[in-house]
Amino acid sequence: MSVLIVGSIALDTVKTPVEEHADQLGGSASYAAVGASFFAPVKLVGVVGDDFPESEFEFWKTRNIDAAGVQRVQGRTFRWSGEYAWDMNTRETRSVALNVFENFEPQLPESFRDTQMVLLANIAPSLQAHVLNQMRQPRFVVADTMDLWIQTTRKDLDALLPRVDLLILNDSEAREMTGDTSLIRAGRAIRRMGPKYVAVKKGEHGALLFGPDDFFSCGAYPLEDIHDPTGAGDTFAGGLAGYLAGQGADEVDFALLRRAVIFGSVLASFNVEAFSLNRLRNLTSDEIDERYEMFRLMSQFEVLP
Ligand code: AMP
Repeated sequence: MSVLIVGSIALDTVKTPVEEHADQLGGSASYAAVGASFFAPVKLVGVVGDDFPESEFEFWKTRNIDAAGVQRVQGRTFRWSGEYAWDMNTRETRSVALNVFENFEPQLPESFRDTQMVLLANIAPSLQAHVLNQMRQPRFVVADTMDLWIQTTRKDLDALLPRVDLLILNDSEAREMTGDTSLIRAGRAIRRMGPKYVAVKKGEHGALLFGPDDFFSCGAYPLEDIHDPTGAGDTFAGGLAGYLAGQGADEVDFALLRRAVIFGSVLASFNVEAFSLNRLRNLTSDEIDERYEMFRLMSQFEVLP
């Protein structure tokens, strides 16, 4: 089963306390697509300008990412720039230039419309809905969002939620969306807004997963060296949705989602080890499986003699 992914494709300029790199490949869909591609073929939907490097299209081909849904139009690619504080966690957005995103209307190729697994990576909820409107009958829809849409387009986001099976957001966004300081109450409250499942990311502290009858909490993989946290959330979402698609899940259940959350966390942990998507470019399936196994061992609290 393949996974359709729509989101931003960007050229990012990122500054950390030790390094700065300009115009590197970024964007929610870029991270999510490469993350997902380790588990399932990807159908990518997005827009780039005429300044976007052709080599990325070549790279997508090598990763079984079908870019037939990526429009190349005249103008500059979406640009985003951010700066991290010394804790590599606190981030300030320095600039955003929508550029070709400003007039973007996602158009799904006919061959994309029957895809069963969909990931609406982070973009405006109206664009996420526009993509969903063109799909025939997806079996499972995952959506990611961000504080900007909670603050500026809440109505669009609220209208999307009943059409989403799993909503992914981070802890501060969950609190902002519900006005509740308790993440447990917030996760449950967001489920009542529509999605059957809700995943709350807690950065270096792991993730929570809420279902109709179940709850799951996991830690994050403990890393010594973080070079660029950008795209961790997007890679998490991509790894998770890709894993679900790769399992050919007719019926996504909570046990499968628990494993998907761990695979998402594993992918995110690799992504932050290098700038942009550079760590994902040479990542292998064996490395993913090895880290998944480490996660399993680390999470056991009753060790048999
Ligand atoms: P994350 O670190 O998971 O929050 O994602 C960072 C990525 O999101 C960067 O690569 C940016 O290009 C992209 N991004 C930033 N702002 C937006 C936005 N308003 N819409 C879509 N993508 C964005």
